[in-house]
Amino acid sequence: MMQLESLYTEIIMEHAARPLHAGLREPFDAEVRHVNPTCGDEVTLRVTLKDADGEPAVADVSYDSLGCSISKASASVMADLVIGKTVSEAMTVSEEFVGLMHSRGEAEPDEDVLGDAVALAGVSRFPARIKCALLGWMAWKDATARALSEREMDAPDADREQL
Ligand code: ZN
Repeated sequence: MMQLESLYTEIIMEHAARPLHAGLREPFDAEVRHVNPTCGDEVTLRVTLKDADGEPAVADVSYDSLGCSISKASASVMADLVIGKTVSEAMTVSEEFVGLMHSRGEAEPDEDVLGDAVALAGVSRFPARIKCALLGWMAWKDATARALSEREMDAPDADREQL
């Protein structure tokens, strides 16, 4: 168990030091800024969607995160997990992660679904830090919901002919 925990700490420190997909890129469909006032973490996050056989998919997630190692590492693993997935697949991963964070250390994380995010499992035992780990994921969900509603508004008005 100690070995696993130190491996997890290493993974977190590595993501915090060299966050994947970091930086704000153009073009993007929606941008949000979320803060976690309890710890002082901040993330500005952009989502770009694309069409994958008629289904919305995550083309890119770019972000700028400031704050503790947990919040930075979590944004990094999140971006790496969701980019390239359809929005519905990515939402499933997000729900799995949120479930893990609310498990009080009891859940057996599924590495096939969560990848490096399993390294954050221990955070669920520290209620004060859960918001740090969820910050990037909540920002992603918010930005994706906004991007999806923009797409609906931009879509050709299929209903209009029937009116
Ligand atoms: Zn934090």
